[in-house]
Amino acid sequence: MEKTNDKNVRGRFAPSPTGPLHLGSLVTALASFLDVKSENGKFWLRIEDSDSQRSKSKFIGLIKQQLIDHGIVWDVWPNLGHEKDGVIYQSERQHIYSNFMYYLSSVDRTFLCKCTRKSLSQKNHLVKYLESGEIRYPQICRNRKGTCLSQVQTLRLKSTNRDDFVIKRLTTGDFSYAFTVVIDDYLQGVTRVVRGDDLKFTIERNRQVQTILGFPFPTILHVPVVRDCNGRKLSKTDEHSKLLGGKFIKKQITQSWTHLRKNMPSSWIEKVTPAYETFFF
Ligand code: GLU
Repeated sequence: MEKTNDKNVRGRFAPSPTGPLHLGSLVTALASFLDVKSENGKFWLRIEDSDSQRSKSKFIGLIKQQLIDHGIVWDVWPNLGHEKDGVIYQSERQHIYSNFMYYLSSVDRTFLCKCTRKSLSQKNHLVKYLESGEIRYPQICRNRKGTCLSQVQTLRLKSTNRDDFVIKRLTTGDFSYAFTVVIDDYLQGVTRVVRGDDLKFTIERNRQVQTILGFPFPTILHVPVVRDCNGRKLSKTDEHSKLLGGKFIKKQITQSWTHLRKNMPSSWIEKVTPAYETFFF
């Protein structure tokens, strides 16, 4: 199995191709790029297209071009065909996720669940919500015997913190983000994860999987998300938020850097400033 073995710093940008990149995505990509390059590390690009319903292949080329246009160039992930541009795609890694899923099941850390969002919404007295709005699953099916296979919706992790999150949606065949991100970060030797603070809630989920699989915990840095003037987080599916090209590129990089300087710890800004000056001046 592909796995880097040295101790070098490695980071990644891992967009889901649900729309073109916006200023918030650029801020995260820039932060991760600078974080890694300030320590002469490798910076991977991973396309997180494991959500087959929401991912659209037409955005993949666009996202790559937007990154290149803004001077954020990734290192080539080795041993891929020329046409892959050194990028890995989650949609091509189902066999890898399946192997890890089978392992979790073999050590009795998964269960089949027949609950749907709708059925759970009718049990509001049992359901707790995480700050992000995600459901903290109330363990209804965890000890259920003899679930009829045709009714099964998901395979969930038997967690140790009463948050039995979804590993795989059996209705679509898609693996969940909280699961795949851990597998790929491990296999790509990622030592530093930089991502938007809207994903903070997944840390506990990631750690559950990392602990069972014996993976090291990468360092995680969260970047405050960019909001529009109404305080709403920018969305990739909103056409108006998308990054612009041409003469706007320089301005968008400067805006992203300003956002980081305003919101990130000064010691981190000090660390990455020489890399910013090298790559973007
Ligand atoms: N794929 C996620 C997104 O586009 C980001 C995942 C990550 O950085 O861990 O929101």
